[in-house]
Amino acid sequence: SPIVAVVGRPNVGKSTLFNRIVGDRIAIVEDQPGVTRDRLYAHAEWLNYDFRLIDTGGIELGDAPFLTEIRAQVDLAIDEADVILMVVSGREGLTHDDEVVAKMLYKCEKPVVLAVNKVDNPEMRSEVYDFYALGMGEPHPVSGSHGLGLGDVLDDVVAHFPDEAAEQDDPAVRFSIIGRPNVGKSSIVNAILGEDRMIVSNIQGTTRDAIDTRFVTNDDDEFVMVDTAGIRKRGKVYENTERYAVMRAMKAIDDSQVVLMVLDAETGIQEQDKHVAGYAHEAGKALIIVVNKWDAIDKDTHTMTDFENLIRQDFKFLDYAPIVFVSAKTGQRLDRLPQMILDVNANHQKRIPSSHLNDVLMDAIAINPTPTDNGRRLRVYYATQVAIAPPTFVIFVNDPELMHFSYQRFLENQIRSSFDFSGTPLKLIIRQRK
Ligand code: GDP
Repeated sequence: SPIVAVVGRPNVGKSTLFNRIVGDRIAIVEDQPGVTRDRLYAHAEWLNYDFRLIDTGGIELGDAPFLTEIRAQVDLAIDEADVILMVVSGREGLTHDDEVVAKMLYKCEKPVVLAVNKVDNPEMRSEVYDFYALGMGEPHPVSGSHGLGLGDVLDDVVAHFPDEAAEQDDPAVRFSIIGRPNVGKSSIVNAILGEDRMIVSNIQGTTRDAIDTRFVTNDDDEFVMVDTAGIRKRGKVYENTERYAVMRAMKAIDDSQVVLMVLDAETGIQEQDKHVAGYAHEAGKALIIVVNKWDAIDKDTHTMTDFENLIRQDFKFLDYAPIVFVSAKTGQRLDRLPQMILDVNANHQKRIPSSHLNDVLMDAIAINPTPTDNGRRLRVYYATQVAIAPPTFVIFVNDPELMHFSYQRFLENQIRSSFDFSGTPLKLIIRQRK
């Protein structure tokens, strides 16, 4: 989906506006396990459009001078975005710094939409005309803190979205390699691409760089490795920040069908690993946990099981993800990855006929009767799969309130033990049958 970058000098209210556009989405994901609510990057929607929003002001360069900071923001926006939302402040009026930002944006070929923030009441609306002087077209008055005027701005933003048509019938499986710095992502990329593979092309993405790599294996299976350039690192100021790395990972996850989450056997699991894994889970992607540097570990008979237990403990919400222990250095087990990617991708796209699904659920209920609350018993009438990637099931019941978390978990496990869904999250939606 398209990317919108929010740009502007400090204190114009970029993050207030950002949060307002993202809206209750953030609130919804907040109580999920390990899920990030990084204000640098989030999903949003307007009318029928889904898009992604980047707050370039969230990049956090430390105490870099204004020009460096703003240059980094603008570079980030120009490199990553389809549409740029430039924010100024109607309360302070047109400033020199706004002009500096505008000048940097002139040279870019991306469409720019201008929002005049902090226009909290109608009397202030006449002030916005000064901003025509920026040469960015019509200034839209908005109030991030009061939620005013957003509709007009977003209408203008979505009008500039590129047409999304291609990609639909692509037989290639899109996957990304995600993990902290130094876990060995680049080494894995090089090992995968190094041998016996035919690299078909580097695909021109929405940015200037060729970011995706398409290749075919000896078995004629086609893959696209998403954001290979991002893994190989580049040189701009903002690219050296940790928050950018996290943003880039989130974006790569969004653009993939399958995520390879790389852990370092030597350093073990760390907070940042959970952060990214939580995002992949939340995004509903197929996922494989790859433990790299297995060559560097002193092994006794329990090491692999011990490590596996540790992972299962720390990533409870990823209990469906297969784990593979590899070494990018020696090449150990790397040859398994292509088939694993194909397998979890097939599971991610699996469709279960309603008759099979309902047989499984009725058997499950027979083994373990539905819960009751105040003498009222949950009744499960019927279930059907409504979507793939991830497989999504709607279960019709008498009263969704009676569906306890633990019982839902039980039903999900019964579905998992009847069909192979390894590597993919499942979504269960509980609906009242009228
Ligand atoms: P990235 O930041 O995740 O892309 O990590 P790199 O691929 O740059 O690797 C970081 C460091 O770990 C480098 O010094 C690699 O040589 C080393 N490394 C990567 N994979 C392995 C491995 O399988 N075994 C060992 N022993 N070292 C590895």
